[in-house]
Amino acid sequence: MSYLAPVPEAGTRLGRVERRLRREQTGRREAERLLESKSLELFEANQQLTAFNNELEERVRLRTAELEQAREAAIMMLATDHLTGACSRRQYAEALESAIKMGERIALLLIDLDDFKGVNDRLGHQVGDALLVQVAEKLRGVCQEGDLVARVGGDEFAVIVHLCGDDEADAIEGYLATLQGQVIASGHTLPCNVSVGLAIAPDDACNAEDLQRFADIALYKVKRAGKAGTARFKPDMLHAYDERQQLEFKLRAAVAQDQIEIWFQPIMDLATGRMQTLECLARWQDEQDSFVSPEVFIALAERCGLIEQLSQQILRKALQSAKPWIESELVDGITVNISPLDLLSAGFTDRILGALRDNNYPSYRLILEITEGVVLQDITTAEIVMRKLRGAGVHFALDDFGSGYSNLAYLHRLPISVLKMDRNLLKDVEHARSGQAIIQHVVALCHDLNIRAVCEGVERETQAHFLSDVMCDKAQGFLYSRPAPPAIIEAVLRNHNGVAVQQDLTS
Ligand code: C2E
Ligand code: MG
Ligand code: MG
Repeated sequence: MSYLAPVPEAGTRLGRVERRLRREQTGRREAERLLESKSLELFEANQQLTAFNNELEERVRLRTAELEQAREAAIMMLATDHLTGACSRRQYAEALESAIKMGERIALLLIDLDDFKGVNDRLGHQVGDALLVQVAEKLRGVCQEGDLVARVGGDEFAVIVHLCGDDEADAIEGYLATLQGQVIASGHTLPCNVSVGLAIAPDDACNAEDLQRFADIALYKVKRAGKAGTARFKPDMLHAYDERQQLEFKLRAAVAQDQIEIWFQPIMDLATGRMQTLECLARWQDEQDSFVSPEVFIALAERCGLIEQLSQQILRKALQSAKPWIESELVDGITVNISPLDLLSAGFTDRILGALRDNNYPSYRLILEITEGVVLQDITTAEIVMRKLRGAGVHFALDDFGSGYSNLAYLHRLPISVLKMDRNLLKDVEHARSGQAIIQHVVALCHDLNIRAVCEGVERETQAHFLSDVMCDKAQGFLYSRPAPPAIIEAVLRNHNGVAVQQDLTS
């Protein structure tokens, strides 16, 4: 017996129904299978979508965080000086403005690093940067709540000190005291020489602009008095400041138009009575036709960054004027004063040698006069530069000896051919025994070291006799000739020297 349902006979009604039912069943099963597989696909697609969505969300979150960080960094950059971490000029300006508007009592300190350019030139920008970082750190170290330290220029800082209570002076003194002493920058121990100008609101000024201007005027006063110090603004400083602004403006124009002239003053050889060399002295006549002292305009040129250009103009003119006199043996050579900033600046040697070459002027007929300032600032660099130039034939004179620190060790260490004693030593030499003894000993020392001794400021015969008696080699002063323009000096030389046999500069 078969358990199989009997297959209805084809063609019967029952058979047709059955077949339809079977077809329908198969179709349903297929549909179910299809549905199942589609659901799986859909599920998988859904899962992929969710994962993708999550990833997208994560990326958006990260990107938003990045953008937020960048925004914060941008705000910080605007508010902070990137090198020192001190506040930026912008934040300082806003803080100053707002403190004054709020009627707060504040002191503004404008701090300028002395000889920062020199540090950069001599030791490189890395050391210069490190010095700025150290100074900013020192200042921030004494910051009280509400104070602000900002870097407002290359080597300039501004500090806003909130003054409250009785300890005003202490609050300011804290900043000044921290700037004393030395700074170690990139392994170099450097003196922390700064000039500080101070103004107080509301005592000195009631708005930010005036307060800054007054602190700047006080700073200028310190710079003019020889740097490294502090001054509080006083109304009587205004006049001097305006004058300086005008003078600086005129000097810029004069240098740009190459208007600074050179005069010469003879230096006598006491043994032969010959005008052996000529000192070149810069002369500037302003529009009112009055002479501005070289001590004033050279110092101004140093402060406002004009000295390199000015010194180069002076040297070029001096070589051009003197060349024919040298060629005709009217004189043995010239001396040209150089500023400490010149000697310690980058490229100085090349500038000197370049000027000699351009003018076809023999290097051994040039003496560069340096002052002790240059040596005190950086004896190592001074020595390197001087030895290089000396190797090329150029001579050096140590000027104004006896007017300052007068360290005799320089004479031994540096390649100096000539020593020029300051005129103060000679002033009362007929009566002052101490002056006599100093000159006598300095001359003897020079001779031991094979250095020629010159005395400046000879105005009387008695002084000249004294110098001859102590075997001083050369003398310079109004007694022989005042400084004069090249044409007059040429006539003086012709009259005095005639045509003589030229000698070596150090003979
Ligand atoms: P210095 O180099 O010591 O120049 C000597 C100064 O003494 C000159 O003043 C000169 O005129 C003055 N003098 C000369 N003989 C006598 C005298 O018998 N009695 C008196 N009382 N004075 C005398 P000057 O020309 O006013 O120059 C002053 C200073 O300015 C110079 O001192 C020098 O340090 C600086 N200087 C002048 N020209 C230049 C320059 O071209 N470059 C640089 N860097 N400095 C210069
Ligand atoms: Mg001189
Ligand atoms: Mg001198």
